[in-house]
Amino acid sequence: MAFLDQHPGLGYPAAAGLGLLIGSFLNVVILRLPRRLEWQWKRDAREALEQPDIYEPPPPGIVVEPSHCPNCKHKLAWYENIPLFSWLVQRGKCRHCAAPISIQYPLVEALTALLVVACVWQFGFGWQGFGAIVLTCFLIALSGIDLRTQLLPDQLTLPLMWLGLIGSLDNLYMPAKPALLGALAGYLSLWTVWWLFKQITGKEGMGHGDFKLLAALGAWCGLKGILPIILLSSLVGAIIGSIWLASRGRDRATPIPFGPYLAIAGWIVFFWGEQIIGAYMGFAGLR
Ligand SMILES: [Zn+2]
Repeated sequence: MAFLDQHPGLGYPAAAGLGLLIGSFLNVVILRLPRRLEWQWKRDAREALEQPDIYEPPPPGIVVEPSHCPNCKHKLAWYENIPLFSWLVQRGKCRHCAAPISIQYPLVEALTALLVVACVWQFGFGWQGFGAIVLTCFLIALSGIDLRTQLLPDQLTLPLMWLGLIGSLDNLYMPAKPALLGALAGYLSLWTVWWLFKQITGKEGMGHGDFKLLAALGAWCGLKGILPIILLSSLVGAIIGSIWLASRGRDRATPIPFGPYLAIAGWIVFFWGEQIIGAYMGFAGLR
């Protein structure tokens, strides 16, 4: 890995290529994981309600089953499955039935490639860079799933939190104490907001997945990252949310997933938290 650090001319293109492949996998996770979970929940619910078990074929698994066109079910050949390039060459259409292929595929692939390069550029080709890539991939998958289904699955938020805590045992980005306190503060801060909002309005203003995502980000950014993440996610949310509402023309009660804003804010604070806090303290005359 030190070799790649010394030869960035090889390292960055390799990281970009790896990012495209990971992005292609994240597309599959974003599409298939929620369907898998829903299938499982229905089965569990039938069992809990003591209803007769109906056989429902399981939706495709994430790792084993090959990709196919959702319209004509045609299985993709390897050359139709090259990240980014296939979509561009086929101009966003299936080669067999010409059904449009979602722009989500090339977008997620290009975004992942870009952010993976940013990870190794900022943290190098060692364990810190690897950890940053892991965090980035989880955040892309969670954002995609939240945008599509308004879910932040425990199957992603909880492992992400544990990985952050485990990394801190070895002082990957910070010692264990601030990571643990960050996870705790992340969960409790949003839980408190949710609880107060519920007491006052009688409505649930936020999903429990949001608390767990902020807990996970706390484990990666530390205790002092929590406040910047909350402020930044509210700011990003207010800006993107108004653009979204203005363009869609929907009423203000439309639920907008908060997960992607937390993910964007968490990623920024993970990368530049020190600089942001430093700049703010300087600006406020606290230093
Ligand atoms: Zn097709």
